[in-house]
Amino acid sequence: MFNSLSEKLESAFKNIKGEGRISELNIANTVKDIRRALVDADVNYKIAKEFTDKVKETALGSKVLLSVNPGQQMVKIVQDELTALMGGTESEFNVTGNPAIILIAGLQGSGKTTFSGKLANYLKTKKGKSPLLVAADIYRPAAIDQLEVLGGQIGVDVYSERENKDAVSIAQNAIKEARSKNKNVIIIDTAGRLAVDEVMMTEVANVKAAVNPHEILFVVDSMTGQDAVNTAAAFNERLDFSGVVLTKLDGDTRGGAALSIKYTVNKPIKFMSSGEKMDTLDVFYPERMAQRILGMGDIVSLVEKAQEQFDAAEAAKLEKRIRKNQFDFEDFKTQLQQIKKMGNIKDLMGMIPGVGKQLKDVDINDDAFKGIEAMINSMTIEERRNPDLINPSRKNRIAKGSGKDLNELNQFLKQFEQMKSMMKMMNKMPMGRMPGMGRR
Ligand code: GDP
Repeated sequence: MFNSLSEKLESAFKNIKGEGRISELNIANTVKDIRRALVDADVNYKIAKEFTDKVKETALGSKVLLSVNPGQQMVKIVQDELTALMGGTESEFNVTGNPAIILIAGLQGSGKTTFSGKLANYLKTKKGKSPLLVAADIYRPAAIDQLEVLGGQIGVDVYSERENKDAVSIAQNAIKEARSKNKNVIIIDTAGRLAVDEVMMTEVANVKAAVNPHEILFVVDSMTGQDAVNTAAAFNERLDFSGVVLTKLDGDTRGGAALSIKYTVNKPIKFMSSGEKMDTLDVFYPERMAQRILGMGDIVSLVEKAQEQFDAAEAAKLEKRIRKNQFDFEDFKTQLQQIKKMGNIKDLMGMIPGVGKQLKDVDINDDAFKGIEAMINSMTIEERRNPDLINPSRKNRIAKGSGKDLNELNQFLKQFEQMKSMMKMMNKMPMGRMPGMGRR
């Protein structure tokens, strides 16, 4: 995410970092580089200029010039300003109505339908809600099909009226349906056009007037940079939406949309979405995003993701096994499955400070563990429980069964042994606990 921006900002800080003393000229140069980095990331020039003017003013007015570590001070100032630019703090998402009505708007292809599915999934699995998805695109029957497929995947009902060409009455009927079926949130996926278009705007505005939504979310394809920001301004004028959703952050996005949109429409970014899988939706935290942009990772989100998957009973069992030195391949496999549930591996690793940019060109995907799993799956249950059984002839069989060569298998077995001896060592330490496995 935002790799090129992160790199350019890092190099902007380079000439000021490590300097014991700096001058106003140093600051001016750094600020100029920051501005260029922002403009290259497709941030509107006026916003970039105002941003860097503020950074400069704060830097000159604060103790940066006298501080022992001016580089760090500058990074901190930029971090604070980036956070403020993206909205400061996280914002509320209102699902208190019964049903709570959420209207989704945006251009065609921005990711509205995909987001509607993700939001329904999020509200169902994380907020304990009972959502109803509503297909209110009266022009493209395929859009209804798409929403039905997504609804099927996540186990959420979809309301549609294929013959009805009036989005307003579909939305009104959907509310009645929600009431009769005890659904407490309805998510209305509206029609989009390829560009801002009067008929589309009027239609969405009419739906808004008729159903009085609790939230109107404008969906933005982050890949489209400043264009997205202009479209947002047009939609906001007509709809006065309550929040923004950034989609496609998994792609090679430059950052322009994320950094400019709050400033332009003065509406908070509420969600960010990265990927086509239904569980890749996150609440937007400006502060964490600023940290990621500055290459500081996002440990808080990483830990939260781990905790979501965290099964206390399983973890206690595992801890006991590690303490007794009984950790085996069955446990290992369970752990891999837990990690995979947390999401895309490259995204996860990118949340570790300093790791993101190193992974930029590395091709890691969810298949990364496949080879290891194949090797474990080729072992018999006895072998998994008692790795000492694995003699040369068994090794041949396991390697063959998993499609790996003997070297790879040996390497994996060796790594597993090393891991076990490390666990043994940690057990002997007075605090002998695995990080993250302590009592809560
Ligand atoms: P709509 O026309 O606004 O409803 O957009 P869709 O939800 O149909 O999305 C348009 C295309 O973008 C589809 O091919 C989606 O699979 C894809 N898409 C949507 N959201 C994301 C995302 O967060 N990341 C990626 N990589 N693709 C996405």
